Amino acid sequence: STPFLSVRDLRVHFSTEDGMVKAVDGLSFDLAHGKTLGIVGESGSGKSVTNLAVLGLHHPDHTEVSGEILLDGQDLLTATERELERLRGNKMAMIFQDALASLSPYHSIGRQIGETYRKHTGASKRDARARAVEMLRKVGIPQPDLRVDDYPHQFSGGMRQRAMIAMALVCNPELLIADEPTTALDVTVQAQIMDLLKELQQETGTSIIFITHDLGVIADIADDVLVMYGGKCVERGTKQEVLRAPQHPYTWGLLGSMPTLEGDVDVPLSPIPGTPPSLLNPPTGCRFHPRCTFAEQVGGGRCAAEQPPLELVEGRGAACHLTGEQRARFSADRAAAR
Ligand code: SF4
Ligand code: MG
Repeated sequence: STPFLSVRDLRVHFSTEDGMVKAVDGLSFDLAHGKTLGIVGESGSGKSVTNLAVLGLHHPDHTEVSGEILLDGQDLLTATERELERLRGNKMAMIFQDALASLSPYHSIGRQIGETYRKHTGASKRDARARAVEMLRKVGIPQPDLRVDDYPHQFSGGMRQRAMIAMALVCNPELLIADEPTTALDVTVQAQIMDLLKELQQETGTSIIFITHDLGVIADIADDVLVMYGGKCVERGTKQEVLRAPQHPYTWGLLGSMPTLEGDVDVPLSPIPGTPPSLLNPPTGCRFHPRCTFAEQVGGGRCAAEQPPLELVEGRGAACHLTGEQRARFSADRAAAR
């Protein structure tokens, strides 16, 4: 069967005064109905840009986007602005780290949720208000019939995040893109929001793309995982595959500082040395090579010269020159080091 969302060879390049920034450079993935894809990577890895392209929110003047983004068979890259307008908020919606950026300070929470609903359903103001109350109740705002007339500044950070989720879900979108929606929240509220998203997904069958730099969050919510580095996917697989048997040295580095699925391994926090690559002048060969401690194992300067292809078997694989045998050995060493 055709996947609900299918992205093929997506490239998003910005022209800047300094040259072309290849923010996303040849990305492909599928997402099925009701599933959650976790996209993980450091800031500047291209994960947010990918999703803005899905929503058609990239700046058209300075951006070249190519490839294919099929949502239920419709190519979003060739859709008109009007068609995208109809899809956004209705069939697909987004939540961000900063609720204040997506909520207007000038209108009540209820009005904003209601307006989104009215825009796509043509509901009356009265019905829209009732729907806003219902949504606020659903996302766990206490006394929603009273709080519906509050303004964003009257809500706490966690409540604003819930209100933003209510607004995103008011039209039952089939695709929800969540870009670090819990990063700014304290751990307790973060856990509540994650539980809420999982609950709502169970109820509505929404597909979710969850963008994060936090593998702990991935372990909590994702079905499949895509690891991005320097505008490219370096590893893909199911959550179990990627977190339990990672294949790419970059993922090994990420996991060195994160809990595992079982959450029972004490790993010292060790950020990956070095900085993310420039997307203006990306490193030659494997983009990770300047930071990779395994490049000399591959030998022959190959990592600096030759870009490793992402070779997938049934959606599973990594882009790295290490042989399967080398990987198995290094993985075993990693496990032993724990
Ligand atoms: Fe490291 Fe080479 Fe693999 Fe890139 S291709 S991750 S530099 S070993
Ligand atoms: Mg981002």
